[in-house]
Amino acid sequence: MTDKRIALVTGANKGIGLEIARQLAQAGVEVLLGSRDAGRARAAVDDLKGQGLKVRAMALDLNDQASIMAAAMAIKTENGRLDILVNNAGVFEATDGPPSKASLEAVRKVLETNFIGSLAVTQAMLPLLQAAPSARIVNVSSSLGSLTLNGDPTSSYYSAQFIGYNASKAALNMLTVQLNEELRGTRVIVNSVSPGFVKTDLTGYGTMTPTEGARLPVKYALEGEESGLFVEPGGPTPW
Ligand code: NAP
Repeated sequence: MTDKRIALVTGANKGIGLEIARQLAQAGVEVLLGSRDAGRARAAVDDLKGQGLKVRAMALDLNDQASIMAAAMAIKTENGRLDILVNNAGVFEATDGPPSKASLEAVRKVLETNFIGSLAVTQAMLPLLQAAPSARIVNVSSSLGSLTLNGDPTSSYYSAQFIGYNASKAALNMLTVQLNEELRGTRVIVNSVSPGFVKTDLTGYGTMTPTEGARLPVKYALEGEESGLFVEPGGPTPW
């Protein structure tokens, strides 16, 4: 049976987002590739369509409310609902750092995109998700957003002190927790998923490929009934 579900993946033109889009489309889902740049979106769509996958570009800039509302309107008009939202788009700033030294401009930029932008997309898409028979939201978080691990000297994440980035993912996790409570008893599931340590343009290095990093977000986008979780490839992550 063909999967008739429709997914929106933000920041899907490269990195983990592109591979999430590829794997969802390979599972038979129709995927809308959110991208803020038309040229980069076209390249990603051509790549996936070249594999025979059902995908479409969707102009979407997390820092531009008009583009978010236009995307929601386009999905409403064309599909009337959304089954899967993957809040994947995110940034890291080189001048981020420990609280005493981080550039405030960098911290603002990271919070604006990773948290406010993902919240704005979620708010705009929520009526469409609620119009689906059942729906899933995956917030692509990071173990760096764990308050517990940031305060645990034995954690491998302890030395990665980026007040902007880590706070943006902790805030995204708060979105997961609060939205899960708000949506309790509805057919919309929301989870925070850390992809692992993945070599992309954002990190420059990592122990996993984007294909590997996409696997857990895709799993939570497609299956499972639990909501309000924070997980990484090794299992649950402490908040
Ligand atoms: P990446 O290769 O740099 O991809 C980031 C994506 O986000 C790009 O498509 C980028 O678009 C998009 N983006 C950034 N700002 C945007 C905006 N304002 N509007 C729309 N799209 C925007 O990085 P990645 O490693 O794949 O990161 C994907 C997600 O995984 C991020 O949320 C990141 O925090 C998270 N994550 C990554 C790792 C890791 O190890 N790599 C670990 C934990 C969590 P452009 O091409 O236009 O810049």
